[in-house]
Amino acid sequence: MKRTLILSVFFMNISSIVLAQEKQNRHEETEIYSPVPPKVTPGAAFRDAPSDAIILFDGKNLDQWVNSKDSSAASWILSDHAMTVNKTTGDIQTKRVFSDYQLHIEYRIPANISGSDQARGNSGIFLASLPWGAGGYELQVLDNYDNATYVNGQAASIYKQSPPLVNPNRKPGEWQTYDVTLVGRLVTLAVNGKTVICNQIIPGITGGALDSHEGEPGPIMIQGDHGPIDFRNILITPAK
Ligand code: MG
Repeated sequence: MKRTLILSVFFMNISSIVLAQEKQNRHEETEIYSPVPPKVTPGAAFRDAPSDAIILFDGKNLDQWVNSKDSSAASWILSDHAMTVNKTTGDIQTKRVFSDYQLHIEYRIPANISGSDQARGNSGIFLASLPWGAGGYELQVLDNYDNATYVNGQAASIYKQSPPLVNPNRKPGEWQTYDVTLVGRLVTLAVNGKTVICNQIIPGITGGALDSHEGEPGPIMIQGDHGPIDFRNILITPAK
């Protein structure tokens, strides 16, 4: 009798895992469309680097970065103190690894961006990436100045996890800032100086994968499989 009960509980658990996986596989089951974060107008000025920051990119070279695919020298395009996605070579990531930190990064969507929904200036910053392109926690980069998509996939969301509280996005063609504080799985994010995520727990790796390396220090990875997004002034201050 007791064995039958244990077996029943076991199979109930297995079937609930299978049902949860099927639900995850239907994209409409994981996309939230309302409430839409209200638009706000950000302040005008960017801040300068703190004195204890590690400069990951200052416009001069890509020495701190490698291609995620094969760890060869990063080959994004350098111009005008910025680096631009080179989608023929794809994602890049830092040589160094980090765990708890404060990260500042600036990005610019091209003024002439076209497309809609997720196909409009899509990139992303993987906050504590798993080794060699295996994924991590994706902080979404996308043009959502006037572009609707699921809110847990819009710019400044932790992709398919946490929507931003508000939408302080600037127009395509203008520089924008992300200031991220990551402590374990606790994340706080300001966009253009406005807090949009405050002490949210990241439930797990983007896409729901399990990986034994999760929680270890990892590189910062930038998604490079879409259009020519520019990045500049990338600074990180590790907590320890
Ligand atoms: Mg993305």
